[in-house]
Amino acid sequence: MNRLRLATLSLSGCSGCLMSLLDADAWLAEVAARADLVHGALVDAKDWPKEIDVCLVEGAVGTEGDLRWLQTARRSSRLLVACGDCAVAGNVPALRNAGAADLGAAARAEQGLPVLLPCVRPIHVHVKVDRFLPGCPPSPRQYQGLLAPLLGISAPVVPPARFG
Ligand code: SF4
Repeated sequence: MNRLRLATLSLSGCSGCLMSLLDADAWLAEVAARADLVHGALVDAKDWPKEIDVCLVEGAVGTEGDLRWLQTARRSSRLLVACGDCAVAGNVPALRNAGAADLGAAARAEQGLPVLLPCVRPIHVHVKVDRFLPGCPPSPRQYQGLLAPLLGISAPVVPPARFG
């Protein structure tokens, strides 16, 4: 079985969704044995790689840069996954759609900071999305359910949560 080419992309959000993936703890060693992380916060790569098998996208589309990165990721990814409620539905970043004036636009432009789009949108508004993992953030089990079949490994059996 070929090694899976895995990428992550963080758009407008808090980065908590991909932090949640790290909570899969030792199971990630099984992922590392079968996959290469070819782009993401832990990879020192300036250019977007070609031929991604799975791209995990967290955050909503709120800036021109977000949109460019997302479109680039879509072009090279076989499976594009919206991870978390910001990517799936806009969530917290979309609160600015309520109409707050962009008082910082001139200052940001002067300093070369990200140019905001008029509205924050979930990623499926801009590109085709193959899978959705809702949650704020999605649980490690959701990531395991997604990745395990693609890697040909089993997701750990975790007893259901007990309440009361
Ligand atoms: Fe952060 Fe929640 Fe948005 Fe994920 S869905 S980036 S955890 S605010």
